[in-house]
Amino acid sequence: MSDVVIYSKDWCPYCDRAKELLERKGVTFELIDITADRAHEDEMIQRTGRYTVPQIFIGNTHVGGSDDLYALDRSGELDALLAAAGAAPGNGDAEAAATGETASLEAGFLERLHDVIIIGSGPAGLTAAIYAARADLKPLCIEGAQAGGQLTITTDVDNYPGFPEGIMGPELMDQWRKQAARFETGFITQDVTKVDFSQRPFRVWVGEKEYRSRSIIISTGATARSMGLDSEKKLLGHGVSMCATCDGFFFRDQVIYVVGGGDTAMEEATFLTRFASKVIVIHRRDNLRASRIMQDKAFANPKIEFLWDSAVEEVLGTEENKVRGLKIRNLKTDVITEHECTGLFVAIGHKPNTDLFTGMLTMEHGYIITEKDSTRTSLEGVFACGDVQDTIYRQAVTAAGSGCMAAMDAERWLENQES
Ligand code: NDP
Repeated sequence: MSDVVIYSKDWCPYCDRAKELLERKGVTFELIDITADRAHEDEMIQRTGRYTVPQIFIGNTHVGGSDDLYALDRSGELDALLAAAGAAPGNGDAEAAATGETASLEAGFLERLHDVIIIGSGPAGLTAAIYAARADLKPLCIEGAQAGGQLTITTDVDNYPGFPEGIMGPELMDQWRKQAARFETGFITQDVTKVDFSQRPFRVWVGEKEYRSRSIIISTGATARSMGLDSEKKLLGHGVSMCATCDGFFFRDQVIYVVGGGDTAMEEATFLTRFASKVIVIHRRDNLRASRIMQDKAFANPKIEFLWDSAVEEVLGTEENKVRGLKIRNLKTDVITEHECTGLFVAIGHKPNTDLFTGMLTMEHGYIITEKDSTRTSLEGVFACGDVQDTIYRQAVTAAGSGCMAAMDAERWLENQES
């Protein structure tokens, strides 16, 4: 057995993410595919006590899943753990593995004063990269340790134009990245740890390494808030969803629950009535946070019911790992009841990934404010696109559109700087 072992399944974006990180570090690992292998599945459960993949071992240490692996990498413990297990990088470009840089970048590329640095690599960031690269700006895209954004953890994408049969989220992002790379985008597959926008050129750090740029495009996206339940995490993509417009279609004529009491929850619940036989909104209080107009719309919809003062205690799954119901606690009486359903949509808000920029740019509810019909932020030379500045649409296609706008805005702004 190799020093590093990953138990995985055939359709598992988190498994792919874990593999990507280890491959980037040039670490060889043994992959145990449990998809159709009951003995290995039992072995994994016996070793870990978990019913979710991936499960990763480094030597005798059980690391956990993909997020645990990335957390160890961020804290700097992963390399030490690999070294202790005798599994330090064995092949690949050691320098690139250590820094997450694209190995094929031309000499001196990273050290130059860039025209544009793009932070983030979802649909907005990669579209900005394609447009900036085609404008010969030779962008540097710092794509994040978990590159590709929310689409990399989405299954079927049926609403992205141009794919009549739909496409898997990770595959779409893979194609997108290849397209950006084809037009000479440099990538660093690590997280930005610090920025300084107080003077130009702007400065961006990845750990100790500093990069300088005349303009910045922020496309760090947003992260859907989860309830923090293990069962919710385990069944994500198997009946638990964070996106009604993406996944609602799969629950035609079924009973669906929505958690949340804000505008997003009302919007999702209302949207889901197009497909569902009934939508039941679970809210932790007895009045909604949503705006009056959204509330009224939901109350008027005969397909929507409400469960007040309630919280999901557990998402129940079948042996095949599909949602079969919920355990719901009434927060006033503490009584727990079981409810049958096939779909649970969690709509308890999104958190835009803007912590890095706090105090530097004008924001509202954590979202970066951009000027009307533009991607210009409150700071000249800094542009924002995609979910990090979008409180309304938050779709891949709208993010891509705003990524295009950001690249064009940056290009024009740079041109004006020269004249
Ligand atoms: P909000 O923060 O407004 O609402 C989140 C909701 O989820 C609240 O009802 C909150 O409960 C509940 N909640 C939070 N955490 C938990 C938890 N752990 N367990 C259970 N429930 C939880 O987020 P939204 O995404 O709804 O809205 C974000 C912003 O975007 C708002 O400004 C909204 O107006 C805007 N928006 C506008 C839309 C439109 O105009 N078309 C559409 C969607 C969003 P509690 O109320 O008790 O805090």
